[in-house]
Amino acid sequence: MITFQDVSKTYAQSGPPALREVTLSVNAGEVFGVIGASGAGKSTLIRLINGLETPSAGKIIVDGDDVAALGVEGLRALRRRVGMIFQHFNLLSGKTVAQNVAFPLKLAGRPAAEVKARTAELLERVGLSAHAGKYPAQLSGGQKQRVGIARALATNPKVLLCDEATSALDPETTEQILDLISGLNRELGLTIVLITHEMDVVRRVCDRVAVLDAGRVVEAGAVEEVFLHPASDTARRFVREAEGDVSAAPGVGGRLVRLTLKGEATYKPVLGEVARATGVDYSILGGRIHRLRETPYGQLTLALTGGDVAAAIARFQAAGVRVDELSGETAQ
Ligand code: ADP
Ligand code: MG
Repeated sequence: MITFQDVSKTYAQSGPPALREVTLSVNAGEVFGVIGASGAGKSTLIRLINGLETPSAGKIIVDGDDVAALGVEGLRALRRRVGMIFQHFNLLSGKTVAQNVAFPLKLAGRPAAEVKARTAELLERVGLSAHAGKYPAQLSGGQKQRVGIARALATNPKVLLCDEATSALDPETTEQILDLISGLNRELGLTIVLITHEMDVVRRVCDRVAVLDAGRVVEAGAVEEVFLHPASDTARRFVREAEGDVSAAPGVGGRLVRLTLKGEATYKPVLGEVARATGVDYSILGGRIHRLRETPYGQLTLALTGGDVAAAIARFQAAGVRVDELSGETAQ
């Protein structure tokens, strides 16, 4: 659906490039995440997709069109196929909820009766039918973003671009908006590109993710792979932020390992089984049980002491648990 071929973007002649030789592709029907720190180039990347920015080098193909080759009319047509939502919602404050949602349809010259019907349908979809006559200032953040989503969907796009769409929301509202976005992906087959600085957002909704650092894609792959086994320092930093710090407690000896359990295995009583069979004791230094989209997983950091540690590791592996050794032989 979307392809970046060696795309670079420099804003100013003197400054460093905002994007450097970015190559990636987003498949139709997937939720593709881009994670990076502030200033990494995320907004630049997403704005290149609908032609709000133009690349300094390289090519961007969206739904079969070379974005740079589109004229004014072509770009307008592209933007009807590519909706966008923003961190700060970008609603028209002088217009009501319904008028905000109807705006792109009016712009596209649709007949009044169609605009009315479609607006009602969209407000229903995002759960705002009761608020159609309110103004943005009378809405909560989550409600404002629902208006943004309804407006972005007005022209029946194939792609939805989300630029930090939940970054201004509290955790509970974030969850509701992410559920709504997931539902649009599942039920409408909408392709979604989602930009964020939070690994938790990626974990909840994305199929694949690219990690952006100073304008470069330093890692990309299935969310499961990047989240559970990050290869780059940048990805590791984001995962650590999401997981909390699992560095060893002072004074705990033994062999430091991280166990990763996935799917059914997540709920099996492997720790006790292995400890009994091998005489190895364990201290739990950190961990969590959670979900990657629908798949449960657990990750535990343990210090293993006494008994036959090598046999314990082999038994974990035989039970389908991935074992990563952390740092040297012992915890601090
Ligand atoms: P992010 O969304 O990851 O925070 P941006 O894409 O907004 O990153 O910015 C990447 C870099 O490009 C930053 O150094 C930023 O200052 C610069 N930049 C972004 N937009 C502009 C602009 N319109 N003009 C000049 N520099 C810009
Ligand atoms: Mg940004």
